[in-house]
Amino acid sequence: MKRRVYVFDTTLRDGEQAPGFSMRVSEKLRVAAQLEALGVDVIEAGFPIASAGEQEAVRRIAQQCQNASVAGLCRAKKEDIDAAWDALKYAKRPRFHIFLATSDIHLEYKLRMTREEAIHAAVSAVRYAKSFGAEVEFSPEDATRSEEGYLIRVLEAVIDAGADVVNIADTVGYAIPSEFARLIRLLRSEVRNAERARFSVHCHNDLGLAVANTLAGIEAGADQIECTINGIGERAGNAALEEVVMALKVRESVFSVETGIRTELIYPTSLLVQEITGVHVQPNKAVVGANAFAHEAGIHQHGVLAHAATYEIMTPESIGLTSNRIVLGKHSGRHAVRKALLDMGVRVDKEGLDFVYERMVALADEKKQVTQRDLLRIVDQLKREKSHTDAYQSVSETAEAGS
Ligand code: MN
Repeated sequence: MKRRVYVFDTTLRDGEQAPGFSMRVSEKLRVAAQLEALGVDVIEAGFPIASAGEQEAVRRIAQQCQNASVAGLCRAKKEDIDAAWDALKYAKRPRFHIFLATSDIHLEYKLRMTREEAIHAAVSAVRYAKSFGAEVEFSPEDATRSEEGYLIRVLEAVIDAGADVVNIADTVGYAIPSEFARLIRLLRSEVRNAERARFSVHCHNDLGLAVANTLAGIEAGADQIECTINGIGERAGNAALEEVVMALKVRESVFSVETGIRTELIYPTSLLVQEITGVHVQPNKAVVGANAFAHEAGIHQHGVLAHAATYEIMTPESIGLTSNRIVLGKHSGRHAVRKALLDMGVRVDKEGLDFVYERMVALADEKKQVTQRDLLRIVDQLKREKSHTDAYQSVSETAEAGS
């Protein structure tokens, strides 16, 4: 039987707090609904004490979610936990996510606390949060730069205080995969009460290693992974959900784990987050980039037409890109173009339609048949070329679950 790995999505917290990625409450609710449809186990909805808007967003997501746990971030402070509970109490499955740094550099310069004071604060916060009867996750922030003996003591203390999940954070994206795997194995074997908590990993992408470190963490026995759609997040971002999940699926025989993710909703979810944040992924982005399934070289095109598996390790359909299908030719009109775009959940204004139509006709002249993938690449060009003009604002896409 395959081991179940839980997916904790923090698109709405770590992702949203990155510069240029802020979302309105109504937009967060749309993303949360899509994340639930996608099958994530936990939605981190925000940092309730940060502002009235955050508080409201977390409360409304808590009210809306039917299946996923809803988490709210808290410092190890009573007022943060109280503010979080005011929002989380509406959730079917509320989870406090309490964090406190454990590295000397954070303790000394940021928190101005001793190690003993930090353990005391962490234990008090976990115990207080636990009194509300909710799940409690504790994150030793900057765990990968913390002294191991001290990190072990902190984890033992918070697990004794009732933490259900301990989340090993590579806050600054400093770890490399072999080292991170070693740390997770060490903690699971050396933390005295390790079997009483789930172990989670939270990896950042400063060295481009967030996904690799997350996968290394899973191989080392992590039960939960923290990630975001399109890898958005502080600085260089977090581990990208779509990349981690597809690696687990494509290389199932290596990892032998399963998640609850419906991979065929990955692409619509990625599009929704791109639309709402106005930030588009690069064309060569793994899994969801416009070129991820495009075969340009003739020899590759020949191979894929003969047998898709020659150059495709996963099908476009497996991520919800139902798009090998030929949809248009050079005799297709603007109406057919608009309809083909709508079928993929893409809505354009008149100017956008002209842009797509002209390029579609030019392409059809060259290759006769235009597929959904071709159209998506044209839409991608449209987004790029119009991004410095007002017209960009009128281009919108919808990617509701199931449509
Ligand atoms: Mn983070």
